[in-house]
Amino acid sequence: MKIKWHGWADFEFTTSKGVKILADAYYNGPNKPEDVNEVDYMVITHGSFDHALNWVNIAKRTNPKMIFCDHGTKIHGLKNGLGNDKFRIMVPGFLYQFEGIQFQCVQSVHVAIFISKDGDPEPGAIGEKEGEAITSFPFSVIIKDIDGCSVYVPGDTAIGPHLKTIGELYRPDVSLLHCVGCPGWSAEMSPKEAAIALQWLGSSIGIPMHYDPRNAFMDQEVNQFIEYCSLLCPYAKIKKLKPGETFECLI
Ligand SMILES: [Zn+2]
Repeated sequence: MKIKWHGWADFEFTTSKGVKILADAYYNGPNKPEDVNEVDYMVITHGSFDHALNWVNIAKRTNPKMIFCDHGTKIHGLKNGLGNDKFRIMVPGFLYQFEGIQFQCVQSVHVAIFISKDGDPEPGAIGEKEGEAITSFPFSVIIKDIDGCSVYVPGDTAIGPHLKTIGELYRPDVSLLHCVGCPGWSAEMSPKEAAIALQWLGSSIGIPMHYDPRNAFMDQEVNQFIEYCSLLCPYAKIKKLKPGETFECLI
């Protein structure tokens, strides 16, 4: 499986058979929504703007076969012109299989509420836009290719015992991990917590995400995460990608 990081939590996976899967769709730079031209399946882990700002626009332009998301995110899509038959609802425990690819929904510990408006495809943060407040139930997903390669896509989650369970049950080959805070804000996981999460997940490859490498503070925290990984899970390789860079997972 090829894993392309578009920036922040936006990833594009290309399976061994060439199927394109897009996971999350902020596209706040340096990569832009226009950089995505082909999507067979789309996964939106929750409706917060930093995961969902551009998903409706990209879905309308690329016409994916299926969109995997929570109920609240689906409501926003329906209000903005996407058809009901395009969706599969993700709830932890649900497993879908299309073209031999498995989409295993697993638990996330997070909260998401966003502002939705008819005719406005971009979900907004509370206080920044007028409209209907919609609760979105965040989830994580393990995408497993037909060749057996699996990737853990967290969306957003705090550290917790669910990560041990996911590691025990699924042991993904690759784990994407958010490991930095935004300056002036908080974070779902600190660099040390993210390294512990990788240890619990048991993956042999970790890819830091949910940060902007142009921000020196965030970039420094990613380097801290890599240092913690060398102590807590030294068997794991950490691939620090640049936006637009692709890593190929060969198992
Ligand atoms: Zn986020």
